[in-house]
Amino acid sequence: RTKPVIVTNRPIREGGRFNGSEEERIALLKLAIRLQADYVDVEHDSIQHLCRDTELRVPTKIIVSYHNFRETPDDLTDIYKRLSQSGADIVKIVTHANNITDNVRIYQLLQQSQMPVISFCMGELGIISRILYKRFGSYLTFASLQAGKESAPGQINIHELLNTYQAKKQDKHSAIYGLIGNPVSHSISPIIHNTLFREMNFNGIYVPFKVDTIGDFMREFRKLDIKGYSVTIPHKESVINHLDAIDSMAKKIGAVNTIVNTGGQLVGFNTDCEAAVKVLEDVSRGERPFARTKDAYLKGKKVTLVGAGGVARAIAFGLKERQAQITIINRNYERAQSLARDVGCFSRKFDDPQALDTDILINATPVGMYPKINETPINKDKLKSSMIVFDTIYNPIETKLLKEAKAQGCKTINGLSMFVHQAAAQFKLWTGQMPSVEMIEKIARDKLNGET
Ligand code: NAP
Repeated sequence: RTKPVIVTNRPIREGGRFNGSEEERIALLKLAIRLQADYVDVEHDSIQHLCRDTELRVPTKIIVSYHNFRETPDDLTDIYKRLSQSGADIVKIVTHANNITDNVRIYQLLQQSQMPVISFCMGELGIISRILYKRFGSYLTFASLQAGKESAPGQINIHELLNTYQAKKQDKHSAIYGLIGNPVSHSISPIIHNTLFREMNFNGIYVPFKVDTIGDFMREFRKLDIKGYSVTIPHKESVINHLDAIDSMAKKIGAVNTIVNTGGQLVGFNTDCEAAVKVLEDVSRGERPFARTKDAYLKGKKVTLVGAGGVARAIAFGLKERQAQITIINRNYERAQSLARDVGCFSRKFDDPQALDTDILINATPVGMYPKINETPINKDKLKSSMIVFDTIYNPIETKLLKEAKAQGCKTINGLSMFVHQAAAQFKLWTGQMPSVEMIEKIARDKLNGET
């Protein structure tokens, strides 16, 4: 063999498949020791059978393991004490995470331990403890050889661990960043930020946090000194109550998509707003090349914004600052009216003929997003060639709305360009360094096209 090998022979009661007698099972483990396996992993209630045979123990290292497939129990420290006194070389404590905060308890256990310990949580909510194993101080982690070949719930595959999460570069000092949301499993943010950390030589690691109860998460994860977060649906508004400070624009919008930890203080920002304004300014600049200040690119432009949710709010407040003439239309008209009142702009009903008398049309709804890619929020006969049409959706990159707008001769902007700019602004807030937006766009396109 060219790599160290761990031999296990798990009984069914510990989640394994060996259905012979206990004597046969232990005999096979002893044989592995005689054959000089690098490690033998034995269950906490069978360790006495191996440790009595002390002369067998060289050079094999014994791992004594405890598995709990139901929960992360309260008495983790007692379990650790018992296992650490068993005569084994390495302690392994693997539990099931029923709550994302269970990962914090595993982290605290690892911090307090005096001997080598392998510890992480199983299940979807435990994935972060598997990824952050070096940062947490675990002796090792487990990964499957390929997706679909997992040997325990929540195991990620080796390709993801090494490429997306750059596991070889991680150490005890890696700064942790991550995405708070639900769902988060299909987000492209981990590949983007982890690749940027690698390319820009920054010792950071970015992971997805699937969060149900935002208050519990924010309180418990302060113990881990997370350096920054991205925030997505459904927590952009509710997270505000758990921050120490908030930037003035994010406060006006009432939503935060970026959190920066400055010396233990969590400060909220909204980079969706500046990103949307930036992509609109870039396109409008072509129409007003002699404008003296960039504020003038959008000044007085008629903008119709479809939607009144979080992203529509961010865009509306940003455009208001640039003195655009905004009209909001939304399926739920009362919500459109309410947002228009907050921003100080117009609202109209969807079927009002004047609603689409506009220079810029923006879709800030999920209509047309994968998998319902054949839907469009605005019928093609309402599109005029003089319009700039901006769809905030980035999956697919070219929505039905954008395809039809292009066919009408409109200038179009896709949601990926906004996504790329909000990610770049986020990275700059966290690290002080501005990454290349071209690089972010390439990583995102490759991922969305399934190339990575
Ligand atoms: P949100 O707060 O849930 O708001 C969704 C909005 O879409 C609401 O106004 C809702 O109308 C409307 N809507 C939903 N389903 C609809 C339907 N079937 N027909 C008509 N209107 C519908 O969501 P959000 O955070 O604002 O996100 C909206 C979209 O923005 C996302 O789907 C995503 O594609 C895009 N986005 C893009 C970026 C980027 O960087 N490019 C970032 C974040 C989000 P009601 O008020 O009537 O329910």
